[in-house]
Amino acid sequence: MWGSILGPNCSDSDPQRGGCTLIILLHPDAGPEQRDEVRAALQRLGVSTIDVPFGERHALVAEAASASHLPAGSIARIAGVEKVVATAPRSPLAHATAQPGGRSVTLGDAVFGGGHVGVIAGPCTVEDPGALADTARMVQAAGAVALRGGVFKTRTSPHSYQGGGETALAELAETARSVGLPFFTELTDPRQIGTLADRIDGIQIGSRNMQNYPLLTEAAKTGKPILLKRHMAADVDEWLLAVEYILDAGNENVILCERGVQTANHHVRYMLDVGVVPYLKQRIGLPIVVDPSHAAGDWRLVPALSRAAIAAGADGLLIEVHPAPETTHCDAMQALPPSGFAELMDQLRALTALDGRQMRGSAEAFTPAVGV
Ligand code: PEP
Ligand code: MN
Repeated sequence: MWGSILGPNCSDSDPQRGGCTLIILLHPDAGPEQRDEVRAALQRLGVSTIDVPFGERHALVAEAASASHLPAGSIARIAGVEKVVATAPRSPLAHATAQPGGRSVTLGDAVFGGGHVGVIAGPCTVEDPGALADTARMVQAAGAVALRGGVFKTRTSPHSYQGGGETALAELAETARSVGLPFFTELTDPRQIGTLADRIDGIQIGSRNMQNYPLLTEAAKTGKPILLKRHMAADVDEWLLAVEYILDAGNENVILCERGVQTANHHVRYMLDVGVVPYLKQRIGLPIVVDPSHAAGDWRLVPALSRAAIAAGADGLLIEVHPAPETTHCDAMQALPPSGFAELMDQLRALTALDGRQMRGSAEAFTPAVGV
């Protein structure tokens, strides 16, 4: 079963909870004496094995219960061992989230997963309250179920615009409340959680913070929905282990967000991994949304990537929309204009209907987070 779609391999850095069967391939030159020595060394480490001869060679198979105590890398260091292959257990938490049809996560009237497709839209960053209110009303009229807007930006350059901070957060919360949409915004530092999380509906963890484990844990403890972006260089297992930090802290309201990965190509900002959507659908039950904006880096590519993501089974989209992109300090090139967004939403409604899923706008008022 190793290499199976069901789970990650054990590794040095990640001794799997939940058991891990190891196949310990002995060196071709390892004769009976050395085999005994390896077995004895394993025994001393508390790992009991079964000897499996095949052809000229032997492998030792370690029982799951004993193997789980030790990372594969430790065993690979024993003289006479050529290679250790760890089977692919499903981690207990990712397994626990698997549900036929998928789990859904809700944020006010917005539902992601379980047959519901939700679109989150808004500016990259909150700059101008007037423009934000216009955007919010427009995306809501087009059928978005939640508003997005960054106030703490994780910019690659420290010289780039860093976001409007708490003032912008107050504007975002006020606008979201006045139009009746819930909102996601990114928190970037565990110290923000205690003071700001109660003013936020859904917490976005940005790509660059995917492995900021103290941030994940503190954000999780709020119990609020967490939109966890994939790091641009993370493989799927690293992403899922980041998810587990949130689940482990007792919060199962996790929405994964694919936003493109780094490759040698520069015709797009990042390469959208559309395949990860159906792949993850087989592996876990949590909702997966796609951010076509940061992947494309160009508004002209956003509609096609959005349609591809929904056709691939995504439970929603996170799209940057701005009424006057030329005026923004942040990600101007990828912001869809309102007219383009409305047209795209019509296409997405038709697409979701094709596979029997529902996309609905949030017409009713949403009860905002307290403390605003
Ligand atoms: C964003 O959503 O504005 C953002 C900064 O995205 P990412 O973390 O994916 O780069
Ligand atoms: Mn952005």
